[in-house]
Amino acid sequence: MSSCLFCKIVAGDIPADKIYEDEDVFAFHDIGKQAPHHFLVIPKIHIASLNETNDAALVGKLTLTASKIAKDLGFADEGYRVVMNCNDHGGQTVYHLHLHCLGGRVLSWPPG
Ligand code: 5GP
Ligand code: ZN
Repeated sequence: MSSCLFCKIVAGDIPADKIYEDEDVFAFHDIGKQAPHHFLVIPKIHIASLNETNDAALVGKLTLTASKIAKDLGFADEGYRVVMNCNDHGGQTVYHLHLHCLGGRVLSWPPG
């Protein structure tokens, strides 16, 4: 979608600190990191939010890609959190589906 920030990142029209890419997903460091490790995993196709998909394989792949990257970056054993914010009450600000992965410090619970 031409007006979507994350579609522009996938297309290379806006630079991002890319970690991983394959035919389905794209992962890059979050510009406003909330932990020593904070990256996003997104589908290459435009999906506005978790409410807009029934693609179990793709949603599952986002999660497994995050865990693989956490292992590759060396913080998986200590632990991490994966989060998808959905719509206004969930705190979603970019309306292209994305999975946050945060690690490298102890994360508090419950979130605010
Ligand atoms: P949300 O609040 O929608 O769950 O998360 C959106 C995330 O995208 C935020 O953590 C924010 O820091 C990140 N973000 C917003 N714009 C950009 C950008 O241009 N580049 C990168 N790398 N991250 C972005
Ligand atoms: Zn998009």
